[in-house]
Amino acid sequence: MKKNIITICTIATLATGCATNSAHWGYSGDEGPKNWATISTDNYACSGKNQSPINLTHFIQADLPSIKFNYQAGGNEIINNGHTVQINYQSGSSIKVDGKIFNLLQFHFHTPSENNINNKSFPLEAHLVHADKNGELAVVAVMFKEGAANKGLEQAWAMMPKHPGDKNTFDHAVNVNNIMPLNRDYYRFNGSLTTPPCSEGVRWLVMKQALTASKQQIATFSEVLHEPNNRPLQKINARTVLN
Ligand SMILES: [Zn+2]
Repeated sequence: MKKNIITICTIATLATGCATNSAHWGYSGDEGPKNWATISTDNYACSGKNQSPINLTHFIQADLPSIKFNYQAGGNEIINNGHTVQINYQSGSSIKVDGKIFNLLQFHFHTPSENNINNKSFPLEAHLVHADKNGELAVVAVMFKEGAANKGLEQAWAMMPKHPGDKNTFDHAVNVNNIMPLNRDYYRFNGSLTTPPCSEGVRWLVMKQALTASKQQIATFSEVLHEPNNRPLQKINARTVLN
């Protein structure tokens, strides 16, 4: 039974968020990251060799091609799933990478950041989760440093669901373009989901230009989570980070 719940939850996490999984894993104690791989056999990948997040460093110059962004307004609901706050996206927004179209499913946040860049942690990181028609995943990450309030976060933050399981609907769809940097240069590496089941084979595309969020905006998010929701840094092993 437990296994079934987690499996259903795993699929649901990508598109609609996952409230049922909250009983099974967390960020501290016995259900914390050290034990994710053993909490459920579904999580075997959590002890894999290509896990996220990582400290991005020792870059390899690769002349990365531009990502083709096709983002429209489409965020129609915001949910608190007990692990993060997530904006679910209706179909119609995508990126093109490696000649494949990856549709934007949802975006969510971590505080502090999960990935580090040159040993630097940020107070907030957004993950824009995309899947292609075969279920392959691509995540665009955007870092936020503390500074001026971020206008792009305001609409979502005004509807912040305070408790696990809470969900609010937007009258006007949120546009993820509003939390994207103007400069879309990026780092790329091969990694995984940063939450159980930690599935590997995820294309990670980390924006080089960080945005700002105010101290209050960062606090508003951490207050609904009650604890940091960043998985510890994982070993880079044989991987390289392309620049
Ligand atoms: Zn994430």
